[in-house]
Amino acid sequence: MEVLLQIRNLKKYFPITKGIITKKQLGVVKAVDGVGFEVYQGETLGLVGESGCGKSTTGRCILRLIEPTAGEVHFDGVNIGKLDKQAMRRIRKDMQMVFQAPFASLNPRMKIGDIIMEPILLHGIAKGKEARNRVKDLLNIVGLAGSYTECYPHEFSDGQRQRIGIARALAVEPKMIIFDEPVSALDVSIRAQVINLIKDLQEQYKLTYIFIAHDLSVVHHISDRVAVMYLGRIVEITGYRELYQNPCHPYTKALISAIPIPDPNVKKEKLILKSDVINSLNQHPGCNFYSRCPYSFPRCREEVPELRETRDGHSVACHLVNT
Ligand code: SF4
Repeated sequence: MEVLLQIRNLKKYFPITKGIITKKQLGVVKAVDGVGFEVYQGETLGLVGESGCGKSTTGRCILRLIEPTAGEVHFDGVNIGKLDKQAMRRIRKDMQMVFQAPFASLNPRMKIGDIIMEPILLHGIAKGKEARNRVKDLLNIVGLAGSYTECYPHEFSDGQRQRIGIARALAVEPKMIIFDEPVSALDVSIRAQVINLIKDLQEQYKLTYIFIAHDLSVVHHISDRVAVMYLGRIVEITGYRELYQNPCHPYTKALISAIPIPDPNVKKEKLILKSDVINSLNQHPGCNFYSRCPYSFPRCREEVPELRETRDGHSVACHLVNT
């Protein structure tokens, strides 16, 4: 398969400052710390990890909604870090994002028709009657009535608003969409419908997805491959079947052991982690997972484990596996 997106050593550090005028820097939060992966044309890469691990920041850095501190992002053969504002705006047509909070991501003062029409006009895809018809078609595609164009965001449920967000992303005929926790704010009963819609659209329009979530059971339903993130780094990446059947990193094992099984007769061994997630300001030089890992040993505290391929298409960042 052809590589559509390639990320190399992506970093995003946020400075911690003190004082209003002098702004003395006390340290940095390493939200994304050397992330690298590829996304192939037509696949879904699930990006999973607990809140604050840097997965959403990674998504925003890929689209340059926030500027990365370092690293390279190549999309469709173009190094987007070198693009000026105009060129970046053109390429964003091919890379869209659907956000977690459907209400917050829609302008409450704009009608739904105008919200979806805006990117169509901005990128010169259609105008006038053609653009209006296109908006109605898009609403139909995501399972909403074309007559909703005159309604405002507050008149819809969260599930419907997320469908509107998806219609807006589709409006510019993108090649890739980054879904940032698209179902975590929705009722459980609605989640499956939205995930099925996302899957159907991928098949219909040959789209490539990055699907960000904190819940492995959600990612499981949609991903071809899964990358597990912990405190700014990718700790494991492989095909979803291999990840669930043969998890290698202790953090992935803990995540998988926490997935509930809807059968009271099935007993599952749980991997209990030692403590809560550590403050990313107080990191030691070694493995980020050291203070929580039940298998840690002295080398883990001193040396960062590199992400290495242990078998075909399965890479892990752990000294225990890579010895
Ligand atoms: Fe645990 Fe060490 Fe592996 Fe980190 S490198 S996950 S601390 S065994």
